[in-house]
Amino acid sequence: MTSHRDPTRLSKSRFLSGLQCHKRLYLEIHAPQLAADIDDRRQTMLDMGKEINEIAHRYFPGGALVAEGHRHSTAALEKTAALMADPNVTAIFEGAFQFERTLVRVDVLERVVGGWRLIEVKAASRVKSVHLDDLAVQTHVLRGNGLDLTGVFLMHVNRQYFYSGGDVDLQRLFVLKDLTGAIHERLPGIPPRLDEMRSMLGRSRAPDVEPDDHCHAPYECPFWSHCTAAKPARWIYYLPGRKDLVRRLRLQGITTIDEIPPQVSLTPLQQRMRENVEWISPKLAERLQAVRYPVHHLDFETVMPAVPLYAHTHPYQPIPIQWSNHTEMKDGSLRQTAYLCTEQKDPREEIALSLLESVGEEGSICVYSEYEHYIVKALAEAVPRLRKDLLRVGERLWDLLEVLQSHYYHPDFQGSFSIKSVLPALVPSLDYGDLAIKDGATASAMYHRMMFTVTDWVERQRLASALHAYCARDTLGMVELRRVLSQKMKSVAPS
Ligand code: SF4
Repeated sequence: MTSHRDPTRLSKSRFLSGLQCHKRLYLEIHAPQLAADIDDRRQTMLDMGKEINEIAHRYFPGGALVAEGHRHSTAALEKTAALMADPNVTAIFEGAFQFERTLVRVDVLERVVGGWRLIEVKAASRVKSVHLDDLAVQTHVLRGNGLDLTGVFLMHVNRQYFYSGGDVDLQRLFVLKDLTGAIHERLPGIPPRLDEMRSMLGRSRAPDVEPDDHCHAPYECPFWSHCTAAKPARWIYYLPGRKDLVRRLRLQGITTIDEIPPQVSLTPLQQRMRENVEWISPKLAERLQAVRYPVHHLDFETVMPAVPLYAHTHPYQPIPIQWSNHTEMKDGSLRQTAYLCTEQKDPREEIALSLLESVGEEGSICVYSEYEHYIVKALAEAVPRLRKDLLRVGERLWDLLEVLQSHYYHPDFQGSFSIKSVLPALVPSLDYGDLAIKDGATASAMYHRMMFTVTDWVERQRLASALHAYCARDTLGMVELRRVLSQKMKSVAPS
């Protein structure tokens, strides 16, 4: 394991890691090379948090930024002290404070009559327990510095804000929640927790912590692969469904799904996972034959901007930006149509028009999950002149996921019906390994990059191609899944 200059020096984010799991904090400091790389989902969340923070600064005119980064903490501490001494500075952004070897950066410190207000800015849309811990450790450090804190607040995104166009109304985009009372209740718990963490960090090896639900909340732990590397392929934790059953079984010393005693009551999916054999319901053929030709296979990709981009939308409202449709004719022939918005405009009307043209008036529209239904209904509300046509499209949707969940199981699904699990199991040639974009979160992040970051034309083309290829894989995947399932029905049909 690598050594750290002063392993007992903590920061706000390290304190939060330690609250999630002492082992996580230990590994972050002593063996950071064991962590998984930041994935696109996490990077998107970090970028969104950064963007929200920058927008929040406009809420406090006359504020000044401490731009010195985390590697320059001495300079950041000095700059903060200078800004505090300047009465013309109404607010300090990213101010640095240190108390007893704990360093924090404060999103906003607002100068008010009688002292300062501490404000943490989050892209979240509600207060969470981790925010209280976050604010409590900052309050502890600021009070240790002798600051007169008149209030402690969380500033989060207001999901109810309806953006009608023009400049975003910051007073309505954000909610400023007074958490002073709740933070004061948490304060006495901070010093002993910091002491526990420091003493743990001084040991020669990481604490033994069994991986469990705490590894996924409030944040995905980047050491999950490291901590679970030695677990068996059919580890009991992978049993789908309620985790209290898993906990009970683990307490009984059961470590794999194969060891679950027969008398334990399981859900149908859990039973299938325990039996670990292919299962085909007698009704699968009937459900598969219910589709009408031509069969369309539709998938949307969406973005959910925290700060609304288009008039008549709310924060975090899913906005469709592309679709793909593979249409299968009765004779088995196939054609694909697709749309991807590459201009900086509200794409919804063009999405709706192009979609209506693609799916026409005939045939079932195969989708994978209820999400497409939700998006079609939302489009109908957003484009009133096409409302009736879009609602008719909604009536033609046929959900392959629901059919699979109710009528089929394959051991390689490993308890998951996500298309990312199902497709490689049933159509190995169509797994996602060859694609630059392999999941929806990455697609959303790459779309944002293509539209708002990249200026190079060639790179934009590359991203557009990657987005087209990803969306097309999902719809071609549905075609092949229906074909494979139909073949299976033929092979089990009574002669
Ligand atoms: S994966 Fe779980 S047990 Fe391992 S360090 Fe992370 S939170 Fe702790």
